[in-house]
Amino acid sequence: MESRELPVEGWRKVVHFRDDDAGLNAIISVHDATLGPACGGCRIRPYESFEAALEDVKRLSRGMTFKNALAGIPFGGGKAVIIADPKKDKTPEMFRAFGKALNSFEGLYYTAEDSGVSEHDLEIVREVSNYVSGIGAGGNPSPFTARGVWRGVEAAVRSKLGKDTLEGVRVSILGVGAVGMSLAKHLHEAGAKLVVADVNKDAVAAAVKEFGAAAVEPEEAIAADVDVFSPCALGGAINAASIGKLKAKIVAGAANNQLATPDMDEALRARGVLYAPDYVINSAGVISVGLEILNSWSAEEMTRRIDRIGPTLDQIFERAKAEGRPTGAIADELAMEVIAKGR
Ligand code: NAD
Repeated sequence: MESRELPVEGWRKVVHFRDDDAGLNAIISVHDATLGPACGGCRIRPYESFEAALEDVKRLSRGMTFKNALAGIPFGGGKAVIIADPKKDKTPEMFRAFGKALNSFEGLYYTAEDSGVSEHDLEIVREVSNYVSGIGAGGNPSPFTARGVWRGVEAAVRSKLGKDTLEGVRVSILGVGAVGMSLAKHLHEAGAKLVVADVNKDAVAAAVKEFGAAAVEPEEAIAADVDVFSPCALGGAINAASIGKLKAKIVAGAANNQLATPDMDEALRARGVLYAPDYVINSAGVISVGLEILNSWSAEEMTRRIDRIGPTLDQIFERAKAEGRPTGAIADELAMEVIAKGR
């Protein structure tokens, strides 16, 4: 296997690995390891160029530095990308070669699942490397993620609407998949009134039946007359074209990268909308991965840590309000403070 360290200013270590016999063309990027070894998932995508893959892994690994810091786990930020088509290029040889690449980081980076990578794939990586997480005790993180988002919605409702319960609070959930459906259950049990949308009509029907939700078309979910808009499908729900339709005063959901562009952070604030930063509210998955690496995973410990997502958001909301600045920027700033203290 050939490996080449790429000098990237501001990143701790970025290495390109290539093993043509095994079909591996990968980049592992450690952005920061101040709080502990870097951890973050591995993504497989048929990137159109090496440069596009490098940009993605840099951006994602930096994001993990912030996410892990505010999740309260002693890990830095890292990520891996494999340049391949997950539908046809995956082989055991590729994953074993990736395991060897991981080993060369000597514990500076732990990998986990991300798009294009399954638990089965990671089990093959585990044959040759110990630096793999997310396939042990924790299992499927979706119910935990949903609990974190529920706690986050409560915090946002307290801050923005001055209400201590979700009784009668109206929430529009875009995407009732693994996380969205579990979130709907929590919210329904807490007395919230739900509007749901999904391209999967069966999922919508189930939410209508079980939680008395009102169904709308996906493009209408953001325009629903509700208190909270909860994006739980794909990224980019808040964008220049959609933001004008938003009626809710709160955006709080599970999806990654809810803001299509960074300027949406300030645009939401300017419209008087309280945004629960996505990487803070949806951090239960990384908490699970982190506890697994630390060998201290238990359902009780998960619940205890997930329930801190609310207080972390409270801190972000309070500072944002006091300083008249957008919550996304405040979250990044808080994360940098945590890292600076760690240093
Ligand atoms: P999922 O695939 O189970 O659910 C997504 C749902 O969104 C599906 O029901 C799908 O039909 C629907 N959907 C897709 N495109 C849509 C569209 N254009 N309009 C309406 N509905 C659409 O995924 P999930 O695990 O529930 O994750 C949801 C989001 O949360 C994703 O963005 C994911 O990255 C993020 N997230 C998930 C976790 C986790 O623990 N699963 C952790 C952190 C972040």
